[in-house]
Amino acid sequence: MIEERITVERKVLSENDRLAAEIRRRLTERGIVSLNLVSSPGSGKTSLLEKTLGALNSKLKIALIAGDVQTENDADRLLQAGGKIVRPIITGGACHLDARMVTKALEQIDLEEVEILFIENVGNLVCPSSYDLGEDMKVVTMSTTEGDDKPLKYPAMFRRSSALIINKTDLLGHSDFDLERAKENARSINPDLELFETSCRTGEGLETWYEWLIRLVRDRKARDAE
Ligand code: MG
Ligand code: ZN
Repeated sequence: MIEERITVERKVLSENDRLAAEIRRRLTERGIVSLNLVSSPGSGKTSLLEKTLGALNSKLKIALIAGDVQTENDADRLLQAGGKIVRPIITGGACHLDARMVTKALEQIDLEEVEILFIENVGNLVCPSSYDLGEDMKVVTMSTTEGDDKPLKYPAMFRRSSALIINKTDLLGHSDFDLERAKENARSINPDLELFETSCRTGEGLETWYEWLIRLVRDRKARDAE
């Protein structure tokens, strides 16, 4: 029984990898930078994206794919924040996005109008780590209202991510969350993580995040022009 289940899972994942490779090919061909945003529920991904849209809408051509288990609430928020290209994915109960869902969402996006694509995954640090969506990199967000041992509990996700955003820094000191310990834990799993410390309420650290995004797009363009 267990072996059967493993075989089915392997099939699902290899089909997913095939579709993800196709997405990656299409996005790379057009020089689009793509980020898969992952986290636990409630880490503030949508708020962060709202702020990012507000700050970068006039500087970058941004598209967003917003995954949600049952509602389009996040997509609606992103539209209201000024998102010009926002496509919701309702997973209908599934606890992760997969490459097939992203392929469908991309069909409704004019890729000529995009420089950077944000894919907001479903809040879950377990299976989204196994599902490649064809992105350039995963960005994991954890907030100061969570345990600072999250990286140790979900090592696969932190290992497979390229950047870590520690969000809600305005709440530091109001819980047992130890910022230095959180960073140490994250680095012990993945020393290459790009680290950001942000607060969407005070705006702290957001500028550094924006600059990094702008640099990603600029570097991609420079590389493609070579
Ligand atoms: Mg959200
Ligand atoms: Zn899942």
